[in-house]
Amino acid sequence: MQAGIHPNYHDINVNCACGANWNTRSTIKGDQLRVEICSNCHPFFTGRQKLIDTEGRVSLFERKAAKSKAIQEELAARKTKKAETATV
Ligand SMILES: [Zn+2]
Repeated sequence: MQAGIHPNYHDINVNCACGANWNTRSTIKGDQLRVEICSNCHPFFTGRQKLIDTEGRVSLFERKAAKSKAIQEELAARKTKKAETATV
């Protein structure tokens, strides 16, 4: 093995936001790695529909979707009203 060209591959401890932690090996700096999601808590593995909404992106999308639906309903109501007045 040629010296001085290989990264420092060492034991590290990985901590997930869900509380799970395990040891592995990596070339990262330091010996601690923090992750937001792992195979213990990801919905794909757990089968549960649980989103970790760290930046509020999901609630923002839900608010936008509700607003859009309200506007569409209003437009549809306006359209039917117009049609009613046109036939009368
Ligand atoms: Zn986890």
